[in-house]
Amino acid sequence: MHRLRNACLIAATLACALTAYSQRLPKNAIPEHYTLSLTPDLKAATFTGVESIALQLAEPSATITLNAAEITFKSVTAEAAGQTQTAKVTLNDADQQATFTFDKPLPAGAVTLHVDYSGILNGQLRGFYLSKSDKRNYAVTQFEPTDARRAFPSFDEPAMKATFDVSLVVDKNDTAISNTNIVSDTPDGDKHTLHFATTPKMSTYLVAFLVGDFVCTSGSSDGVPIRACATPDKLTLTPYAVKAAEFVLHYYDDYFGIKYPMPKLDMIAIPDFEAGAMENFGAITYRETDFLVDEAHASDEAKERVAQVVAHEMAHQWFGDMVTMQWWNNLWLNEGFATWMENKPVAAWHPEWNVPEQVASTLNGTLNIDAAAVTRTIRAEANTPDEINEMFDGITYQKGGAVLDMVENYVGPGDFRKGVHNYLEAHMFGNATAEDFWNAETAATHKPVDKVMESFVGEPGVPVLTFEDGSGLHVGVTQKRFFLSPVAAKAHEGDKPQLWTIPVCIKAEPTAACPLLSTSPGELAQGSQDYFFANAGGVGYYRSAYPEGMYAKLLLHVEKDLTPEERISLIGDEWAQIRVDKQPVGASLDLAAATKSDPSVEVISTSVSEIGAIYERIAATQQEKDELSAWIRATYKPEFEKLGMPAATDTPDTREMRGLLMEVLGDAGDAQVIAIARHLTELYLADPNSISPSLVEPVTRVAAANGDAQLFDQLQKVFETSNDPTHKEEALGLLAVFKQPALIDRAIDYAASGKVRNQDSIFVFARTLGNPDTHDEAWKYIQANWPKVQAQLTEMMGGYLVGSTGSFCSAEKAQEVETFFTAHPVHAAERALARAKSQISDCVQLRSAQEANLDSWLAKHK
Ligand SMILES: [Zn+2]
Repeated sequence: MHRLRNACLIAATLACALTAYSQRLPKNAIPEHYTLSLTPDLKAATFTGVESIALQLAEPSATITLNAAEITFKSVTAEAAGQTQTAKVTLNDADQQATFTFDKPLPAGAVTLHVDYSGILNGQLRGFYLSKSDKRNYAVTQFEPTDARRAFPSFDEPAMKATFDVSLVVDKNDTAISNTNIVSDTPDGDKHTLHFATTPKMSTYLVAFLVGDFVCTSGSSDGVPIRACATPDKLTLTPYAVKAAEFVLHYYDDYFGIKYPMPKLDMIAIPDFEAGAMENFGAITYRETDFLVDEAHASDEAKERVAQVVAHEMAHQWFGDMVTMQWWNNLWLNEGFATWMENKPVAAWHPEWNVPEQVASTLNGTLNIDAAAVTRTIRAEANTPDEINEMFDGITYQKGGAVLDMVENYVGPGDFRKGVHNYLEAHMFGNATAEDFWNAETAATHKPVDKVMESFVGEPGVPVLTFEDGSGLHVGVTQKRFFLSPVAAKAHEGDKPQLWTIPVCIKAEPTAACPLLSTSPGELAQGSQDYFFANAGGVGYYRSAYPEGMYAKLLLHVEKDLTPEERISLIGDEWAQIRVDKQPVGASLDLAAATKSDPSVEVISTSVSEIGAIYERIAATQQEKDELSAWIRATYKPEFEKLGMPAATDTPDTREMRGLLMEVLGDAGDAQVIAIARHLTELYLADPNSISPSLVEPVTRVAAANGDAQLFDQLQKVFETSNDPTHKEEALGLLAVFKQPALIDRAIDYAASGKVRNQDSIFVFARTLGNPDTHDEAWKYIQANWPKVQAQLTEMMGGYLVGSTGSFCSAEKAQEVETFFTAHPVHAAERALARAKSQISDCVQLRSAQEANLDSWLAKHK
């Protein structure tokens, strides 16, 4: 799956300390083939199913247990050794299982089950569900991780792979899409039956059916037909995704050295969709905003987003779909890999998008999340559906991806790729574990990848490397677990020390050397340079702490000798030292000033997000905020003026930098920039294509943050009337940016009014709650109107809402948040609450440690 955009609020989770009772199926029955015929009724929101499952019984048995949820059984029979028996069906709702019991034990060997049943097209965006456009209903699926059982009784575990023959009986004027190509289409009165080709062996969670009047744009790559499909009103927004997929498919065919494993690739945008996208084998589904884009008018960011999500889901076709993790505890094998892989084809397709710099910036954020006390290991126990659902977090995706990035940098891309190929080939259409992957890498690279990966997959948190000023050829170093809060560090002081096996890449000419550090203390070769930098490439999954003298020398080389990725990592390391009181906050502002003319958008963006954190979480008084704002304006206004106004010759970088600086200056209260933003927003509202696409988001955001009821009305109208999902989503998000209390209430009220899809209301709730300018009013209003707000929350969204209360910064608010969510528990959000509470207490601590430092720095920089 692709996680929801703006999901930075997702909680990295606690280690699974809950006692999990197993909901695993017995292993006596192994499915081989499913024949499925489904007839959805889009008006009544129900469906009927006729299913046979060919399976092998390991030994004679009078019972067979499989998964089923919200299924009504009409009849179940079993055919074995020429005899047919009818089963008694017992449901276990708590475990989402059904047990078929037979009078006489079925013999060992081949058994075929025949099941007649019915189910509901639910409104929960899971299983076989109902999605609605303005005009009509669609029946669509989302099965990962444990919801195939809502569409057909099944052995719904990833290792129980089987082949599938799917038929869908649909209305005469509708069509259906499934994993494979249509092999026959038989009319029958008002209906027709579409029969799909037999699939390869695959997991149940990757099966998909989509029913409605979808229309598609077609293309092909390496002989594979590719289609991008949507509801009819959005057909014109699909061609860009086809282009992206054409490039990516060929790229992967080449990279993996194994051809795309399905006869066709369909990609379908669905009006209601909880995650970002889902990698169903041969039939990838998407949230509209992650897939549909108006190529001629969209910003580079919007196009890149589509390319990236397409590349992520397509990577899964090999890694996840063709070769699948044995069980959900190794979900990172799927998701970490796809998160890492998606960047390669996108970077190759559009080098000017500077993908590696974005990766460095993401890594910086991931290290911060993982340095919280409430984190977990990459691989973690997960047995119940709730526990499995909680695995879809930043640790699985971003940390998993970051560790692969580090390992690839250590062994070299060519050898790493060989390991990937060997792993895929060895487990084609089967299942595999983490050990299978790193053993294949170890064999292919002749380097101890297993040791490195085992330590990063098995140890929670982030190591910090503390270097010693040395003389001569070696630098002394210690490693220990890093906590982004002195309180947490103190609480863990007595813990058994953690040790990682870390490739530490020392910057050197002409190439970096990456010795392994597996002890503490240890020693590293200095290299031959006049400065020491211990994260060449900027992809190491660790923090670096340099002693003063070493850091001062390094600073002289920041702009001249470090790459943008390395600069981003250094800025992040410095900020981390401030968070733990090892440096005064001014060090971060000094570094921002030293890099203010940096040509990389991501470098500036990393600096300004730290300045934003200083503004929100350290500056407490209006005077501090005003003085900091004045410094921001003085520092970045000249950089903005250097760029000038949009010109045809702008590079994507220039366009993005201009937008970023406008946002920074607008937030800092620059009157001229706010006036420009207002003016451009008026032009945009009159004609959405009249201003540079890369400026739309920054200027409308600045205008809304300073806006009134009239602008609110206008944006609400854009949301209600635009046919472009990107414009719609942006407009809705902007409603949550207004600062007047009455407009904050109005935004939340509107998001909870039923006029906004469940999947989207969260943007308003989380944004108003997550922003210190609006969170007091939002929190008051949400508490007072809780039943209405809660009614909008899907399973995934509850955690986001709870998590965004982490923006508060006082002990009283921490108590208030805890009291409220204890009285009004949100399903599957315990970890999000723990994390929010720890963020609040970190903020309190940070402010008390650094506010005086900020004051004295500001006094010197007036
Ligand atoms: Zn994924």
